[in-house]
Amino acid sequence: SQVYQVVVLGAGGVGKSCLTAQFVQGVWIESYDPTIEDSYTKQIPIDGRQCMLEILDTAGTEQFSSSESTPASCRSIGPTPTQTYQPTDTTTPIGHGFLLVFSITSKNSFNELKALRDTIIQIKGTDQVPMVIVGNKCDLAEERAVSRAHAFAVSHSWNKTHYYETSARSRLNIDQVFTDLCRQMLQA
Ligand code: GDP
Ligand code: MG
Repeated sequence: SQVYQVVVLGAGGVGKSCLTAQFVQGVWIESYDPTIEDSYTKQIPIDGRQCMLEILDTAGTEQFSSSESTPASCRSIGPTPTQTYQPTDTTTPIGHGFLLVFSITSKNSFNELKALRDTIIQIKGTDQVPMVIVGNKCDLAEERAVSRAHAFAVSHSWNKTHYYETSARSRLNIDQVFTDLCRQMLQA
């Protein structure tokens, strides 16, 4: 049966690896090698049936210069330069669904999402792409730099993209994020 590929994107340090580890393994990992890019599989029940996910935890946008037209973490979305494609294959992206993650403690990490979203839409050739915006580290309330209302409003202005606040540390809303994305991919 179908395996749905999920790509986890966002700035370095926002909690992509911690979030993925919590979802896949149910463990909190305090410190993760920021350069590790790996994929994991997990089955989740959606409305009575099992949905198989392959989750790609991407590594670091920050190590790439802004002069590049495609953010580094978008390598996972489309063809990489090292691969050879038939002309018809160049529009076949790897990801079926995308988690766009920022940290509620970092305004910059939020501002980076627009370019990621634009790139996804450009590569997919449509703005009807299964996607969820994730404001992680919501346990750090006293360090909040992006208000829930602002993040929600911006997400909503992006084709009513769903917005969740999560804590990978306390495992808040982690399953909800993946379940929502899975529902979108099933309907796509
Ligand atoms: P990545 O670069 O996006 O993969 O970020 P990591 O998953 O490696 O996390 C970066 C840092 O943020 C680590 O020190 C984590 O302990 C911390 N972190 C990740 N998620 C959370 C969270 O939900 N709450 C708190 N307080 N810290 C977090
Ligand atoms: Mg990581």
